[in-house]
Amino acid sequence: MKRPIEFASGVYMLEVPFPEGLFPPDSPPCTLCYLIKQSSGWLMIDSGFNHSSCFDALCEQLAALGLTLRDIRWLVITHFHPDHSGLASRIKAVGNPHVIMHRTDWDVVQLITTPLENWGTGLEDWAGALGMMSNELEQFRHVAVFGRGLFPVTLAPDILLEGEDSAIGDTGTLRALLTPGHTPGHISIYDKRNRFLFSGDHVLLGISSHVTADLFGDDDMLGNYLDSLRQVRLLNVDLVLPAHEKPFTGLSRRVDELLLHHEVRLDQVLSAVGSRPTSPRDIASQVQWTTGVWDGLDGMHRILAIQETLAHLHLLKNQGQVDMVQQDGKSLYKQVSGFSHSL
Ligand SMILES: [Zn+2]
Repeated sequence: MKRPIEFASGVYMLEVPFPEGLFPPDSPPCTLCYLIKQSSGWLMIDSGFNHSSCFDALCEQLAALGLTLRDIRWLVITHFHPDHSGLASRIKAVGNPHVIMHRTDWDVVQLITTPLENWGTGLEDWAGALGMMSNELEQFRHVAVFGRGLFPVTLAPDILLEGEDSAIGDTGTLRALLTPGHTPGHISIYDKRNRFLFSGDHVLLGISSHVTADLFGDDDMLGNYLDSLRQVRLLNVDLVLPAHEKPFTGLSRRVDELLLHHEVRLDQVLSAVGSRPTSPRDIASQVQWTTGVWDGLDGMHRILAIQETLAHLHLLKNQGQVDMVQQDGKSLYKQVSGFSHSL
């Protein structure tokens, strides 16, 4: 059993392993959760998948510190993904902490945890508009049905954050900052006393976080992500404590790498947009993905690639470089005539 690592007085990192055998080998091995001592109890950041092995690992590591779930006064969820939010309901049922997340991500949890039958034709319409093939949609549906159980299906958060910067805990040193992009309501926690940034999946060391397109409209999520990267770059941070891999120094250097990564990808997406209207799916199939070549990607990874492409298309549209046209229920993209692009 892993013993929690102490990074400063009263700040611990817990490793909650991903459930064995459920994920491809390129998935991260665990969710890193953090415990921060407050005046009237502990504040925990993130949880782990809704799975017994994760629950047991978490409780064992708390026990190694002489703690139980009843010592957790606040549980802060950085974003709705199940490796972060999954155990929130079980933790709430046992320890009754105040569960905190951003309202924007809570809206998404409610959508996902609705039984799939209630989605009606919404999923087909959505996938069809992106140009997805029916076999890709089937694969995605399969993963979605399976994955639903890893979410906190019965969660009812106690505190829904609304703004961009909110005080959390009771020591006056922690702030939850809205850092959208990976998800629309992703938050990072800034610890002013220790100059730590608990970055969730907003900034990771070796992985460039997936940036999703707006699920409910065509908000420029990539633009929001790049803006929020530039925002955290301005913070006085000595150590970044992310939710995967390992803590690291050099926040501004890492942010610069991520900004460059998206510049390159924007160029790739723009090159794949022709003068004829093309679906996000067909544009995505021409982009270079770190997870592999398009033909080798399964339905889930294709959805992620299409979503990421769409986020880039929304930004390019905002910049006036591409146009979107509706044709036969599809949202297609083409270069703005007169705009010349060279690599
Ligand atoms: Zn994650």
